Amino acid sequence: MKFSEMKSAYRSLGFLCVLCASVVNCFSLDREAFSFTNYDLNVQVEPEQHRLGVRGKITLRNDSQIPQKIAVLQISSSLDWRSVKAGDKALQFVSQPYASDIDHTGGLSEAIVTLPQAVAPKGTIELEIAYEGVILLDATRLTRIGTPEESANSTDWDQIGSTFSAVRGAGYVAWYPIATEVANLSEGNSLFEVLGRWKNREAGSKMRSQIALTSNNNEPPQILFNGVKCLDTMQESMGAVSRFLWDCTYQSLRLDAPTLVVANYSVLERPAIEVRYLPGHDASAATFADEAQKLGPFITDWFGAQREKAKTADLADPKAAPFESGTLLLMPLAGSDSKLAGIAAAHQLTHAAFLSFRPWIEEGLAHFAQALYLEREKGRPAALDYMGLHRFALSEIEEPTTVPRSEDEVNHSLVNTTNEELYRSKAMCVWWMLRDMVGDPALKKAIAAYRPEQDKEPSYMPRLIAAQTQRDLEWFFDDWVYRDRGLPDFKVESAFSRKTMTGSFMLTITLDNLGTAGAEVPIIVKFAGREIMRRLTVQAKNKAVIRVEVPAPAQEIVVNDGSVPESDTTNNTFNIPQEAK
Ligand SMILES: [Zn+2]
Repeated sequence: MKFSEMKSAYRSLGFLCVLCASVVNCFSLDREAFSFTNYDLNVQVEPEQHRLGVRGKITLRNDSQIPQKIAVLQISSSLDWRSVKAGDKALQFVSQPYASDIDHTGGLSEAIVTLPQAVAPKGTIELEIAYEGVILLDATRLTRIGTPEESANSTDWDQIGSTFSAVRGAGYVAWYPIATEVANLSEGNSLFEVLGRWKNREAGSKMRSQIALTSNNNEPPQILFNGVKCLDTMQESMGAVSRFLWDCTYQSLRLDAPTLVVANYSVLERPAIEVRYLPGHDASAATFADEAQKLGPFITDWFGAQREKAKTADLADPKAAPFESGTLLLMPLAGSDSKLAGIAAAHQLTHAAFLSFRPWIEEGLAHFAQALYLEREKGRPAALDYMGLHRFALSEIEEPTTVPRSEDEVNHSLVNTTNEELYRSKAMCVWWMLRDMVGDPALKKAIAAYRPEQDKEPSYMPRLIAAQTQRDLEWFFDDWVYRDRGLPDFKVESAFSRKTMTGSFMLTITLDNLGTAGAEVPIIVKFAGREIMRRLTVQAKNKAVIRVEVPAPAQEIVVNDGSVPESDTTNNTFNIPQEAK
């Protein structure tokens, strides 16, 4: 169908649908009926023109309960559909704009395709597609909700450009076809949820991309396609213009978005990591590579030997937000000091060593590794400070509720959540608490016993941990992992001191947990310029008592050293009344 025909088809469709709320209702379209199980794409990149042109085949599987006669294919609104075929037959389709914040432009070009026959549930169909357009720096979805332009551009930094091209997939740039319901950044978790559903449907899908690049530069650029190694298949020069061809195959094991980066990088190789950097960033790149290399044994001790080499690549904008896709980390290397490099490398090397398709395990452990790194470098307080930064975000979303709603308890649980703050920040805290409860050797053994291919149910990892300890942890997994019971809120209810026969003081402390989740929490007793730390488990909406012997009269009790996320920390200090001494 020619564009003018498509437009008129769309207009007449719009006329027919005048009584409907939208074109969508007319078909009662199920945009999420199909999963895309395979992509075989020929991708033409013309950096000087910011152009992307794609031809290829995609395989759709009907994951709905009913036969589907219509398929929806979505690409970024800056790209246009050229054709959709099945076999050799051109299919009728209507192209329409579809507003959605899943793409950086805040919109998609949607092809509503009439299939040659209905596809039965679980059935598949292969389509041949063609589309093209430009991918420019565009942060419309952020600026239109009030994000200042500069920070919007540093967040949505994707673009195809003459010296640097980087496009992240679904959630940033729909440079390959997707199919999703509308995502709206101004509506709470809408984008997270839509993206989470898409990524779950795409888990295990395969993408083969043959990438051709035409450039005025004769130097072959470096290509990165997620973490995979691309085969360099051809290079030819025609006068001033050079053509490069790569063949990249990628199967998504995690919830990653296929990401393509082409730039004139130099490469620094170390046994643990490859660092690709832009001109002038040699020193920062060396710092990063050295820190990562130094950290290798520490990460291996916790998370096992590296399965693959970690890859770091430079971003041109020094303020660009870092982005990770599996073992590939994109971050501005300019001016990165060794401490920042160490924190980033700890996360990345953990991904290179440990694989799980469950975000709370995969990302939770990688963030936990960052806290472990800081503890090793600077001591426990530095690690707790770092976790404190994450906890701030956490207390914002984990609003204190007296009675959590049961559907939220399940939907927001760590095992189900698609919310990044939960599976990153909360999960990190959960790993840290587990480690405080069972100890390093037990937790390391549980992590070492983990096999991603055996992880068939949410209780798999909790059972591995339980197997390494005598302690009953079921209540903990129930409050923090299987369900989202919110956060604890500790308060010292009372403390009484009694002098013992030996001249020391026996302190009886009653701790109240006003919150909705139980935890084992540190209690710090301060006396005569010193302190003693003990740990006590207090279930949600419950009290517990602990006796602590101190050599001198206790002056102050502090509950929680910051290792347990809490909804209210203003009530954590208790001054011992004079008469109790
Ligand atoms: Zn990560």
